[in-house]
Amino acid sequence: MDRKTKIIATLGPASSSLDMIRSLVIEGVNVARINFSHGTEKDNVNAIENVRKINKELSIETSILADLQGPKIRIGSMPKEGVALIEGEEFTLDTTIKEGSLNSAQISYLDLPKDVNPGEKILLDDGKIILEVISTDGSSKVVTKVIEGGQLYSNKGVNLPNSKISTPSLTKKDFEDLKVAIKNEVDWIGFSFVRSADDVIELKNAIEKLNGKAKVIAKIEKPEAVNTFDEILKVADAIMVARGDLGVEMPLESVPLIQKDIVKKSLKLSKPVIIATQMMESMMENITPTRAEVNDVANAVMDGADAVMLSGETSVGKNPEEVVKIINRIITEVESSYTDLYNQEEEPTENHERFITDSICFNACRLAKRVQAKAIITMTHSGYTAFKISSQRPRSSIYVFSKNKNLLSSLSLVWGVQTFYYDKMVSTDDTISDLKLFLKTNGLVEFGDLIINTASMPISDAGKTNMLKLSQVE
Ligand code: PGA
Ligand code: MN
Repeated sequence: MDRKTKIIATLGPASSSLDMIRSLVIEGVNVARINFSHGTEKDNVNAIENVRKINKELSIETSILADLQGPKIRIGSMPKEGVALIEGEEFTLDTTIKEGSLNSAQISYLDLPKDVNPGEKILLDDGKIILEVISTDGSSKVVTKVIEGGQLYSNKGVNLPNSKISTPSLTKKDFEDLKVAIKNEVDWIGFSFVRSADDVIELKNAIEKLNGKAKVIAKIEKPEAVNTFDEILKVADAIMVARGDLGVEMPLESVPLIQKDIVKKSLKLSKPVIIATQMMESMMENITPTRAEVNDVANAVMDGADAVMLSGETSVGKNPEEVVKIINRIITEVESSYTDLYNQEEEPTENHERFITDSICFNACRLAKRVQAKAIITMTHSGYTAFKISSQRPRSSIYVFSKNKNLLSSLSLVWGVQTFYYDKMVSTDDTISDLKLFLKTNGLVEFGDLIINTASMPISDAGKTNMLKLSQVE
């Protein structure tokens, strides 16, 4: 595989079977996303197990991302045909009723009447319907005026972009789902509606308490998260630009520049960054994407994202395989021609605690560029060198070897990284020639190729990369 930018596919009713997962992975999916907003525990565990079976069958390391719902607020049940909300009229959100009617809807969030203030906006169904708070009784009812009308159906999402929400970012459901995810040893946990760095730290502590190894993806989809992004970035393991909710909570037109800014900052700190939502939306129905969608995917790749994500396109859409095929083609084309993508040098700062490792990674990439090396090959225990080398976006292949099995699949999300299991610890010399032979036998490098190894020497000094070697494949 020469493709650098990774593909994440959400599994759902259209794609959780063994046969479909096998096809999607063969077409290029690197990360399987299980969306805990939908599906029963049984469905979700079944999907995870199927990904594992395919990994075994094909000897690959597809990563698994469990995405927690977070404090997503929803409308309760409405009459089946929906209810027309008419501009200028009053509409009440009520926490106590069972079913909605012409002038009221049930709402799942009990503290809504306490959290909102007159004048604040309440958006329904991805912002298609806009309400403005007239008054609240502070306990169960919020009276609003319809600013933008439309048909309101059961279970539609509710966004409160102007209100300070008092509910914790991790809900009871999230903790239950987290237990399931950790028990099933997923690689990544997606954290929806993150508001602060403390949120991320809370989730990390919860994972640790469950003895989990999963890394955390902070989904940026609220104004608070955009405002405190620099702090969130420092503590998160990866970032997702969650454009679906972000484009509802913030003005639509602000999303493109937020995307660019987030990608740039994430790259600088060597944190993987994902662009998500509506990338190939029209392919849920159609067999080709719109030209605008093709441009959007291409631009995400050009921005320098580690991964692009498919949601409904693969979970419930009509053409999951075709979507992956086409997104793969778009990425491959951009990567082959857009040279600005590569060689993003980040000079290590001298007082950094991993200054030696950083300097080796920096110079490995610089050397790779200079001699047009075929591959950069690294051994890692924590993944640190893999993240560091990847974030400099070398053109050379990045082959990462580790004896840490959990780590291998989590790195499948990271730009350009290809992982392999290796557990021998004889000497640095032995390891380097072993890896070279392995890559040659598997057709990944060939006679005459220049390759670069990073390693720690002596090998017993595991973890601290301190050595750089340039050699030719014999
Ligand atoms: P979701 O997150 O699909 O879980 O809502 C992505 C987004 O909001 O874009
Ligand atoms: Mn979202």
